[in-house]
Amino acid sequence: MRTHRAVLPGLISLLLALASPTRAAELPIFDAHMHYSHDAWDVLPADKALALLRQAGVRRALVSSSGEGDDARGQRRLAQLAPDLILPSLRPYRQRGDQSTWFRDESVKAYVDDQVARHRYVALGEYHLFGADADLPVPRHLVALARRHGLVLHSHSDADAIERQFAQWPQARILWAHAGFDSPERVRAMLRKFPTLWCDLAFRTDHAPGGELEPEWRQLFIDFPDRFMVGTDTFTPERWPYVVEHARWARQWLAQLPPAVAERIAYRNGEALFAVAARSGTSQ
Ligand SMILES: [Zn+2]
Repeated sequence: MRTHRAVLPGLISLLLALASPTRAAELPIFDAHMHYSHDAWDVLPADKALALLRQAGVRRALVSSSGEGDDARGQRRLAQLAPDLILPSLRPYRQRGDQSTWFRDESVKAYVDDQVARHRYVALGEYHLFGADADLPVPRHLVALARRHGLVLHSHSDADAIERQFAQWPQARILWAHAGFDSPERVRAMLRKFPTLWCDLAFRTDHAPGGELEPEWRQLFIDFPDRFMVGTDTFTPERWPYVVEHARWARQWLAQLPPAVAERIAYRNGEALFAVAARSGTSQ
């Protein structure tokens, strides 16, 4: 993924930002993009993962895990230990590599049905889904399951696949992972078109050159203050310790926004989206 490679410029701007005086209050953070899979809990036990989140000032985190059977319970284990802090999300991935095949794997249907019947989840995802694949039977099943249970869909997708999911369920609440890695203009058009589309900003704003928000993004945040949230994306175990720096860095760039907008992006939008999800039950 192209932005994952931009580590060095990110580190440099992070160091620059940390060297400057803190301009933001210690905003609580709603981290909307966390993974805690089997490979992570081997090296980072649950209590240590929770301690990192608390150290970072994360008030709540949307966490998913890949795996099957006992290996699939990372996010549920965290949620059991810290129900105030962890919102568990269900990934349709049971093995490494499922990311590029799950949407054609019919056995995913029974797996997600069984999981949702037996455990509490607030969302489905994060899953990777692009273009016309969104209209295949397995993704359609996922959208229908979310509809029956009032779950948020956390979709790592291009704009086309987002549109196709809304066509299946116009009232869907979709959290667009990484804002689709799309341009501010395209994200703006999508937010205008779909009032129940939210964006997580994982890998979008933490590598801004010199730590300055780009003007197009800044204006987009101000024009749609209710639709964005931050996310670390702990896609590998090694990334977990970055949770603390990510939160600090998020507070730095959020300080370039009006305080009310910064608060919403930092945590209020996540709280609002998932409070709705928790209340909505099984209808719609
Ligand atoms: Zn992710």
